[in-house]
Amino acid sequence: MRELFAGVGAAAVVILLYYQSNLIPLLILAGVLLLLFNFSGIKTMRLTAVGKRAHGKQISFNEIGGQETAKKELLEALDFVMKPHEVKHMGIRPLKGVMLVGPPGTGKTLLAKAAAGYTGSSFLSVAGSEFIEVYAGVGAQRVRQLFNQCRQKAKNEGRNSAILFIDEIDILGGQRGRHSSHLEYDQTLNQLLVEMDGLNGNDGLNILVIGATNRPEALDTALLRPGRFDRVVQVDLPDLEGREQILELHLHNKPVEDNISLEKIARETFGFSGAHLESLANEAAILAMREGRRRIGEKHLLEAIDKVIMGEKLERKPGKEEMWRIAVHETGHALVSEELKPGSVSQVTITPRGKALGYVRHQPERDYYIYTADHLEKQIAVLLGGTGSEKLVLGNRSTGSLNDFKQAVELAKKIIAAGLSSLGVVSIDDLPVGLLHRTIQQIIAVQEKRVADLLASRVDLIKEIARIIIEKEKISGDTLRRHIFSSTGQAC
Ligand code: ATP
Repeated sequence: MRELFAGVGAAAVVILLYYQSNLIPLLILAGVLLLLFNFSGIKTMRLTAVGKRAHGKQISFNEIGGQETAKKELLEALDFVMKPHEVKHMGIRPLKGVMLVGPPGTGKTLLAKAAAGYTGSSFLSVAGSEFIEVYAGVGAQRVRQLFNQCRQKAKNEGRNSAILFIDEIDILGGQRGRHSSHLEYDQTLNQLLVEMDGLNGNDGLNILVIGATNRPEALDTALLRPGRFDRVVQVDLPDLEGREQILELHLHNKPVEDNISLEKIARETFGFSGAHLESLANEAAILAMREGRRRIGEKHLLEAIDKVIMGEKLERKPGKEEMWRIAVHETGHALVSEELKPGSVSQVTITPRGKALGYVRHQPERDYYIYTADHLEKQIAVLLGGTGSEKLVLGNRSTGSLNDFKQAVELAKKIIAAGLSSLGVVSIDDLPVGLLHRTIQQIIAVQEKRVADLLASRVDLIKEIARIIIEKEKISGDTLRRHIFSSTGQAC
């Protein structure tokens, strides 16, 4: 809208200049209009800050699953807000800011809300993106407004502390001088720094600013210096125990069958965030309701995992020939996986979901945080198992492996970047393209041969399992392992 007015204004000026008119009244009018616009921007911001976001339900730390380290560190920091007199007595510099850093959906907003509940503080929440405007100075004005609003809110609620939560703080607090319209960004960030420096003076009100970001590397260093965001709290993806706790929390208000092992579900959801797990619990309830069941069963939870990872089931059905290819392809992945990592397959399915026509769900034996070359090479082999199986059984390959190849190349690059390839320790960014390409090919060729050798004696087994998958649309890891055992006489 503003851009439209600017365009029309510029055109009017050109026309009036052409007819040699007096421009002064027009310029005064434009100035007044611009002021009004900036002002209305502040009003919108005010509504967002107090209206939509601030009145969430109160949350306690017990309602946040896992994140024990983050909770502990945050609780320690909150003592500063809870015990202002002790802090003053000991001559400790008051804490002004805590930065929560972690991937999306891991509970950063929940932690900030719980902090407000725990300390009995007033709570105000905004997103960094709400501050950035095309016009220089508006963002800075909004920052000033926000801090005033925070003080006012605490006063109105009769509280002596307030928590100001700024989500996506990297948008507001990105490194200065980096943006194309950097004057606006820099002024906004400068204003935030000024406001933080002036916090907790003599007005008897303690304000703690909690920032959240999943791009800490983008933050201006001035934000993280002592006296501003003093504490950086890492909020990571939940581990096995954390996932189980989060599932329990989100299934707590839902009717669930008695014999369900949440540990099993947690085991199969490595890499899920709290938000994913919340969605899983919700989807499982929807699936159970669709089936006309009164309670959520394990099978609903397992199916909901596929739904959260891959998306809704698709109506489109591939033709008979394509189905056979997909089944052979997925069986290849599954057999290589079982051979290299026994017990790793949880389910193989050819139900089209999202972008995938078939899918093997793996079950890591434990959570991994670092990988050896051997581990990554096995992962590449599993990815190549699909195309290897197609070539062996059908005599040719298809575009169905495109995504597998992309992932395999990424893993090969990881091996090179981590200094685990034949090149030794190198800077992958400085490698000549040709050399990088050849090394990736070498890594992948070794695994291609490994897969071909491994599947060569299993053509009949691949066909047998693919037939079952076509008939039943899926096969569980346990059934798959039974077939492998009866065909080879030994567990893979
Ligand atoms: P973003 O970075 O995208 O803003 P966030 O880290 O702030 O995400 P939240 O908004 O706190 O994530 O979490 C989103 C939802 O996910 C919550 O409302 C809750 O349902 C669920 N959730 C996330 N983490 C947890 C957790 N540790 N325990 C329970 N529920 C969680």
